Amino acid sequence: MNAPNKSGWKPEMGPASDGEAPATASGDYALALEEPLIFELRGKGKCGVDFDYDPGEPSPEIAKFVRKKDVELPALAEPETVRHYTRLSRQNYAIDLGPFPLGSCTMKHNPRLNEAVARLPGFADIHPLQPMDTVQGAFAVIEQLADWLMKLTNMSAVAMSPKAGAHGELCGILAMRAALEARGDAREVVLVPESAHGTNPATAAFAGYKVENIPATKDGRVDLAKLKERLGPDVAGVMITNPNTCGLFERDMKAISDAVHAAGGLVYCDGANFNAIVGKVRPGDLGIDAMHINLHKTFSTPHGGGGPGSGPVVLSAALAPFAPIPFLRRDDKGRLRMVEERSAKTHAPESFGRMAAFHGQMGMFTRALAYILSHGADGLRQVAEDAVLNANYVLRSLEDVLDAPYADAGPCMHEALFSDDNLPDGMTTLDIAKGLIDEGFHPMTVYFPLVVHGAMLIEPTETESKIGLDRFIGSMRSLAERAKAGDETLKSAPRYAPRRRMDEARAARKPVLTWKAAPGQPGEPSLSEIGGS
Ligand SMILES: *Cc1c(COP(=O)(O)O)cnc(C)c1O
Repeated sequence: MNAPNKSGWKPEMGPASDGEAPATASGDYALALEEPLIFELRGKGKCGVDFDYDPGEPSPEIAKFVRKKDVELPALAEPETVRHYTRLSRQNYAIDLGPFPLGSCTMKHNPRLNEAVARLPGFADIHPLQPMDTVQGAFAVIEQLADWLMKLTNMSAVAMSPKAGAHGELCGILAMRAALEARGDAREVVLVPESAHGTNPATAAFAGYKVENIPATKDGRVDLAKLKERLGPDVAGVMITNPNTCGLFERDMKAISDAVHAAGGLVYCDGANFNAIVGKVRPGDLGIDAMHINLHKTFSTPHGGGGPGSGPVVLSAALAPFAPIPFLRRDDKGRLRMVEERSAKTHAPESFGRMAAFHGQMGMFTRALAYILSHGADGLRQVAEDAVLNANYVLRSLEDVLDAPYADAGPCMHEALFSDDNLPDGMTTLDIAKGLIDEGFHPMTVYFPLVVHGAMLIEPTETESKIGLDRFIGSMRSLAERAKAGDETLKSAPRYAPRRRMDEARAARKPVLTWKAAPGQPGEPSLSEIGGS
């Protein structure tokens, strides 16, 4: 056990608790800094600012509202406050520190040019309720980005307001339902293959559909024969992720679309993995009716930790009339106008309604357009080619030490999938992921997709260099070899992180989000209440 540091807080899981190195008095190890909660740092009577102001006696009207108890705000001097947050920020792993191999997340470098453009006052300082004539430039950005998205996908329309991938899925499904209802043909079932992303069945269920599963073939793709067997007058459509969550391109996509259309249904494609095919494949050519694009993945805007995102949805001609409001139109004088309302006679009579308060994520739009324009058509195609090349390099470099279930089926797309099948009993995917933390990497996506046992899904993206990939591969090989040799120390990884193995299920289900003073000790922190067990 480590000695408590000055604040009384003790790092119960630091590397020295192994007994391999002596505990430090501070609780910090080299430059791996510990940091207590801000409430534990505060001191009575401390203050960051001096107010030379005496409010005097309150007037009788407000006297009864005067607070009798301490507010319990953490009081710290300015330099202590700055240090607290800077120390916390150093505990963050970030794409600017190293690779983020999370499969299905497309964590790529975000060029600084995008940031500079998004911060221009003409974009950053505008308000969504400003008169339309004063924001014609911002509208032009939305229009130009929309035009690129339609050209890249060969689709007829695009709804810009959805604020994330999953929000875009809901938009697409609601447009599909509006189209089916408009032709008096409400249907009940949405088919979702096993290789689809988890948000797909969740979206269909959220929109009120019965979700039915379609099995995958042994090479990880949609079983076309099984899908065709299930099609019928009750099937509203399908939701297919392409490239799918096994990192594979659904080669039968056109045949799937044709079969679904012949049975009167509609085709939703989850396009969050568009990074692998941008500039190479136009989803409109594959018979897709609706597809969301994650601007925060393919078009490089910072994401992770819950936001911000942007999920525009491209729509086929059949679905375009049902697109949500608001959307942009040019009036007869060429001015851009946001159509905010449905009107039975003049505009958007068939729109399914509104998904968001305003026009969407302006900051994401400017970043995505800056990214697209700085790459150009040829650059975007190279994004897809390099992302796929990098993923295949990872796949082929590790397939001899880790089980790669679909490696025989040919090249992968943007992500490489491994399973825990050839690890010895007792060694798991979790051990490899935790070992990666000791190696200084953010772990890959684990236990997803569900179609393989103990999945490890690795998406390097195009922005990792060969040197960077080789370092990552070297660490993965070493971990796989240690696991195969039954190295028990891997079971207690991470050993060099400020925290060891945590009860992640408990942390997710019972997060302790507020600090409370211990009973009877006003203002004094209690370790048990901070969740320090
Ligand atoms: C990321 C992702 C989503 C969800 O996107 P969010 O912006 O997180 O809502 C959906 N499908 C796939 C395949 C994804 O990779």
